[in-house]
Amino acid sequence: MKSIIEKIHAAERLSAEDALTLYKSDDLPALSELATLVRKKFNGTHAFFNRNFHLEPTNICIFECDFCSFSRKLGEEGSWGYSFDEIKKIAANYKDKPVTEVHIVGGVHPKRGVDYYCELIKVIKEELPEIHIKAFTAVELEVMFARSKMSHSEGLKALKFAGLDSLPGGGAEIFDSEIRSKICKTKATAETWLCIHEAAHKLGVSSNCTMLYGHLEKYEHRVDHMSRLRELQDRTNGFNTFIPLKYRHENNSLSYLPEISEEEDLKNYAVARLFLDNIPHLKAYWPMIGRSTAQKSLAFGVDDMDGTIDDSTKIYSMAGAEDQNPSMSTNELCKLISNAGYVPIERDSLYRPIISQSTTTTLSSNL
Ligand code: SF4
Repeated sequence: MKSIIEKIHAAERLSAEDALTLYKSDDLPALSELATLVRKKFNGTHAFFNRNFHLEPTNICIFECDFCSFSRKLGEEGSWGYSFDEIKKIAANYKDKPVTEVHIVGGVHPKRGVDYYCELIKVIKEELPEIHIKAFTAVELEVMFARSKMSHSEGLKALKFAGLDSLPGGGAEIFDSEIRSKICKTKATAETWLCIHEAAHKLGVSSNCTMLYGHLEKYEHRVDHMSRLRELQDRTNGFNTFIPLKYRHENNSLSYLPEISEEEDLKNYAVARLFLDNIPHLKAYWPMIGRSTAQKSLAFGVDDMDGTIDDSTKIYSMAGAEDQNPSMSTNELCKLISNAGYVPIERDSLYRPIISQSTTTTLSSNL
């Protein structure tokens, strides 16, 4: 640990071996201190949140990932697929609300191509012209591009022209091919996921990146995963934030696995903050990890809590997350952050601060 601590203080890049050593350490206070040192270099004492809602247009999916509690087959009980009229109504609900982002991901539908998704974006933009559209995982994109006989670049250009602003980080799961073949063997490979994000970055479309952890993978696989993200970021600088996603074990084919402990979650955040020296933000997605752990994660390198959500996502509630109807007011988010000793900052999707009246009022009453 001594040489790693020296490297961190000297702002030197950690090796994969260093990251593995950190994962094997049980010294959580030391990891917290080191991760906090680095998070302060990136983001000072700021902790970000945004006003967002999710749209999950369908849970009908051609794939059968073992960790997934969300997907259904076409016609299966519990499946849904919104019409454009229904999507228009969902978007219209937010017309008078100060949301800045819609996050759109869903199942990989058996019939829909790029034209369908361009139309979906246009329907939302007609109702909410100013909203930032962060949409479609690389897994969804690969299939829609193939169905429309478009290259990654052609498909992304068409979606960007329709109003796509950035990509979410989902679908990365764990890049190691052996583990990937066990938990999601038929969907986009690691290489395809990385290739699509690289193509997006080259077109000026930034993205997020994720890692699904706490299932069959070992620490080595997490380090390999983050190394590949770090390499791509060195080339493109297109990732905004890294989001570790914890495997939750209800209602899926890996339910026999126990969920890992909160200490492991916090350690994972700290190692990510220390290893990913070129990705500016680290997010604790609170609907997945729970409010209490998300708040604690602020002491382990995390600087972003995600957003208000407005009870608009089912992905983690269907997998057994604590919040079955995830929704937080900006007041609650500000309190959660300031009670942990950080300064809450409302951000837009590209981490530019938004100073609104309600945020200013909440800030002054909490600090
Ligand atoms: S994780 Fe995504 S691609 Fe896999 S089954 Fe679920 S919805 Fe489909």
